Amino acid sequence: MLDRRNFLKMAATLSATFSLPSLPEPVAAALKRLDPATVPKLIYLQGQSCTGCSISLLQAESPSAVTMITAYSKLGFHADLSATSGSQALDLIERYISGDAGEYFLAVEGSIPWDMDKACIIGEKPLAQYLVEANKTMSGAVAIGTCATHGGIPAAEGNLTGAISLGEFYQRKNFHPLLVQIPGCSVHPDWVWHTIIHLVKVGLPELTNGQPDLFFKNKVHALCPRYHDFQQEIFAKKIGEPGCLFKLGCLGPDTFADCPTRWWNGGQTWCIGANAPCIGCSSPNFVRKKDFPIYRL
Ligand code: SF4
Ligand code: SF4
Repeated sequence: MLDRRNFLKMAATLSATFSLPSLPEPVAAALKRLDPATVPKLIYLQGQSCTGCSISLLQAESPSAVTMITAYSKLGFHADLSATSGSQALDLIERYISGDAGEYFLAVEGSIPWDMDKACIIGEKPLAQYLVEANKTMSGAVAIGTCATHGGIPAAEGNLTGAISLGEFYQRKNFHPLLVQIPGCSVHPDWVWHTIIHLVKVGLPELTNGQPDLFFKNKVHALCPRYHDFQQEIFAKKIGEPGCLFKLGCLGPDTFADCPTRWWNGGQTWCIGANAPCIGCSSPNFVRKKDFPIYRL
């Protein structure tokens, strides 16, 4: 777990030097085999998001987030992590987006306010304009988290900004870039970083609807340790009871994600393991309808 103190320490280290800390031996060995000149550069922009996915990405343990953004990729810009700010930061983004800083991948966290572009401004320019310009120069885009992949909470019924996903934005603009979609609210750090490692060391992973099969091939329900209870119709009647959580609103049957085998927080726990139903955070339907409660109690 990365507490606030350690987060700030890490951000300061990145800001000050952008150099590698000492690394565990297997990671250090892997890094020696990597040509730093060929790892992808990432420009990370945030739309309508709570920054929860960025925080989750920093929880990565194997490899660590620092390794990921300095060795397996080069983080060119991130609003929360980069040393630069103000006009220097804007110039840096412009340099990448214009293509002057070489090849790069665009990472986008958060949804895009289609009906109210000024709801999401970077400097004095709407995010949407950056996305249009980047479409001409980027090698591809990675949508990070459910807001970016499906609209998420900002696109919930009744939203005023017309929030849409990155994929929907490209569709409406008739753009067809390479787009890798990694949902989750928040996103699991492994889902993002391991996809990037795959891109770097193996190539583009198998995708279904833009989502890596590595993590989203199976439904939570199919992998769930309580599936036997479901079959036997042994249902929990309230949170905390043993048994299948279906009658408490578990959305595992509708949700593609490998949480039952991957777990969260460095393998400490996961939703159903903590007796809470899956709320379908990686599903396209996540919190879309007003009358769709997260839990049925
Ligand atoms: S707890 Fe949820 S995911 Fe697990 S078996 Fe029951 S309905 Fe399926
Ligand atoms: S179990 Fe469901 S709600 Fe929990 S993290 Fe996985 S997909 Fe999201």
